[in-house]
Amino acid sequence: MKTISNYIDGRRVTSRSRRLADVFNPATGEVSGQVALTDGEEVGQAIAAAAAAFPAWAATPPLRRARVMDRFKNLLNDHSDELAALVSAEHGKTHDDALGELTRGIEVVEFACGIPHLLKGEFTENVGSNVDSHSMRQPLGVVAGITPFNFPTMVPMWMYPVAIACGNTFVLKPSERDPSASLLMAELLTEAGLPAGVFNVVQGDKEAVDTLLTHPDVTAVSFVGSTPIARYIYSTGTAHGKRVQALGGAKNHMVIMPDADLDMAVSALMGAAYGSAGERCMAISVAVPVTDQVADALVERLIPKIEALKIGPAEDRSSEMGPLVTGAHREKVVGYIDAGVAEGARLVVDGRGLRMDRTGFENGFYLGGSLFDHVTPEMSIYREEIFGPVLSVARVPDYQGAVDLIHGHEYGNGVAIFTRDGDVARAFSHEIQVGMVGVNVPIPVPMAFHSFGGWRNSLFGDHSIHGPEGVRFYTRIKTVTTRWPSGMRANPEFIMPTLG
Ligand code: NAD
Repeated sequence: MKTISNYIDGRRVTSRSRRLADVFNPATGEVSGQVALTDGEEVGQAIAAAAAAFPAWAATPPLRRARVMDRFKNLLNDHSDELAALVSAEHGKTHDDALGELTRGIEVVEFACGIPHLLKGEFTENVGSNVDSHSMRQPLGVVAGITPFNFPTMVPMWMYPVAIACGNTFVLKPSERDPSASLLMAELLTEAGLPAGVFNVVQGDKEAVDTLLTHPDVTAVSFVGSTPIARYIYSTGTAHGKRVQALGGAKNHMVIMPDADLDMAVSALMGAAYGSAGERCMAISVAVPVTDQVADALVERLIPKIEALKIGPAEDRSSEMGPLVTGAHREKVVGYIDAGVAEGARLVVDGRGLRMDRTGFENGFYLGGSLFDHVTPEMSIYREEIFGPVLSVARVPDYQGAVDLIHGHEYGNGVAIFTRDGDVARAFSHEIQVGMVGVNVPIPVPMAFHSFGGWRNSLFGDHSIHGPEGVRFYTRIKTVTTRWPSGMRANPEFIMPTLG
């Protein structure tokens, strides 16, 4: 059985850890390999490699760093099918969906290719007589990334292309549930000309994470995952003096106004709720139809579409939705559906009974799409993130009811409104307390040259990820004030200098 291990100082390194975790093929339910759960000492070796590589990499001109990113981008495109296959084999998502997340990751690499422009500083001539000031952004040092299972290529690429292009060195701790893609990305970076030690991968769990959070040579930590862990990462990392951005969970609402194009809204909801089996932090998990009339029409149109979802393995290129990532996660989602029924929501489509009868795939972690109607704010299926193919319909009487509902939720990651009314769309975009807003766009994931991040319990820290915020997060500012010519003579000044 294959063991998935680390990438340190420019090469694959077999971990000596005896702690291993099973990695599953979700399509068949079989164990396909084991991942090493690296101990603190080995994580320390990766940090040491990154620290040793930092001075030379930080001194490399940004244009040269950008050229490495450019070659890396081409290699990612050349190896896209291979990377997507690795993702599907461990995550379970369809091949096209795996290619889609890779494309969104490659866009961040393209953004990082512009780093010479992005790192240009500011200059003011004559802040005082013969005195000039300029500001520059410098890299932080060794930075760490800790990533979730649901986007094994895209989410790491929200982080390391920007961090590395800014002149930092990087240690990635991927999800232990789908660890393989990280190693191929590391090899492609080396092939692109990245010096050894600039990008390292350590597989593992809490022990590896805690080492990254407390090690004195790690200057900053980027995290994406669930809210309880994001909160822990933020408090522990900042208590150890690190800069931290920790992106957490979500419950994304989609408001359907009475004037919306209902067919468009239904089609958008299908992809946004059931794509990637609902295992997306930007999935729409709550539909908020305004008025009962809209709700009835919406539910009526959704039912046949959910029942017709093509669920199957990535091997079948016609599959629209794959299995869940693990059997344990599938059980957790089933538990939520049971709870929703017990709490009195109306289960209109029940995905629990799905049986996969294709030979070889009978034990895969498949679950059909489910739909709840009449979901109310106190129910656990509304309050908590289910992270599966379950859509809740929460009816509201009017626009204000929709806004109040959304503001009552602890998460503020993404939100969408479907309407033909520009006044309503603008008012909603302006007032809603959520980080990413879509108007007639169901999953408003910002492009790489903008920044991604939620509000409230969906993000801990001051910076969103990638785009301009990413550059700010991975650099610190230095301002230099100079006086020329050097031969000028002045008496000592004992008061606070002013322009006078
Ligand atoms: P998770 O929080 O279980 O794991 C994320 C990372 O934290 C993994 O690398 C894991 O090894 C590590 N980890 C887990 N438990 C830990 C602990 N006790 N101490 C230290 N480290 C620990 O998340 P997941 O199940 O892999 O991913 C799904 C979650 O990620 C969902 O909540 C989803 O909303 C969220 N997510 C958020 C975004 C976003 O942009 N806000 C994007 C993708 C996923």
